[in-house]
Amino acid sequence: MPSTDSIVDRIGARRAEMVEDLRRCVAIPTGHDHRPGLDEQRDFFARRLSALGATSTDHAGQKRPTWLLGGGSDLAPPHTVVHRCAGFDEMEGPRVLIAGHLDTVFPPDGPFREMEIQPDGAIAIGPGVVDMKGGLLVALYALEALHEAGVRVRWSFSFNSDEETGTYCSEEALIAEAKRHDVGIALEPALPGGALAIARKGSGQFKVEVTGKSAHAGREFEKGVNAVYAMARTLTAIEGFSDLERGVTVNIGPIKGGTATNVVPDFCEAWGNARFPDQEAAESLEQKLIALERQGIPGVKVHRSFNRPAKPETPEVRRLAMLAREEAERLGQTLPFEFTGGVCDGNVLQAAGLPTIDTMGVRGGGLHTHDEWVELDSLTERAALLAATLIRIHDDWGTGGSAESR
Ligand SMILES: [Zn+2]
Repeated sequence: MPSTDSIVDRIGARRAEMVEDLRRCVAIPTGHDHRPGLDEQRDFFARRLSALGATSTDHAGQKRPTWLLGGGSDLAPPHTVVHRCAGFDEMEGPRVLIAGHLDTVFPPDGPFREMEIQPDGAIAIGPGVVDMKGGLLVALYALEALHEAGVRVRWSFSFNSDEETGTYCSEEALIAEAKRHDVGIALEPALPGGALAIARKGSGQFKVEVTGKSAHAGREFEKGVNAVYAMARTLTAIEGFSDLERGVTVNIGPIKGGTATNVVPDFCEAWGNARFPDQEAAESLEQKLIALERQGIPGVKVHRSFNRPAKPETPEVRRLAMLAREEAERLGQTLPFEFTGGVCDGNVLQAAGLPTIDTMGVRGGGLHTHDEWVELDSLTERAALLAATLIRIHDDWGTGGSAESR
């Protein structure tokens, strides 16, 4: 069996090719619901993975709730594709799900469309370089290197298209896949310093609607019911739901209400996002939101969807993270652990029972801005780390041998 070192060398030798692939992928626009770009990007990976003998499965998408900010879509919901290594069902060993998303937050017709390598050659700026086209390539190159070396590990690689808008269309696919795997690895960018997110808060979306009664603001003010005032009182109550000490935060915005200054507004709507450290806090927040409908302010309706549960550090996640850290150190890298308030598909996978580490992608920053950048060295470094970690999981995870005991 070839050594991990020789696989790492193979990946290192492909640095220029990997940078070129990143440039190619970044030039394919995959902003929210831009189907031609999403299809092209999906095909790029499908071709490369099928060259490794992988087979693919399609999961139909579900419709997004229309009350969410940005609404639903008239298009059919995007599907999720999962590629599985040759012989997946017959093989022995832990089943690893590698999860990636094709979408970025950048519109296809915006000004930020190409990757530019900075004069020092160390950094490239471009839409999705770090979140997460670089991460998708990390996994592709790791799997290609393992394949070329004849090393068989048992993997699936999933691609959804709506992570940046809350995974509403692909949630069922991810949950179904989580249930047929033993370990999850998501390709989100590393936290600053290359850190691995060991635990994450959960996130809930909600919307408050207040219906009042319209009237002329001068002639019949008293006959109106001002929905904006009622919303203001409701939001003051919601402001009190945050509990910074417990790590519970509730943000409101945007908000819309009224049509003209001389009309008593009959409708007001506000969207919000809640973050919470655990399921108990999530349930308590949901109860408080529902209770707003009965608090004596008339016409209040609350929609909510707490679909990204908190992702606490569990003993299994710690074990998985320790395996990755040991491999990182063997490769001369470091892998610090951190807690983050950000959410990703790792939250969904782990809540469905799959122990998941989810920042195995590249190092960089400026996510979701026009300064989004990637450290180019991290492409091969993280691919090497992922390849080594996949071998380690294959060898050790199913045996119950803990990282500490090795
Ligand atoms: Zn992402």
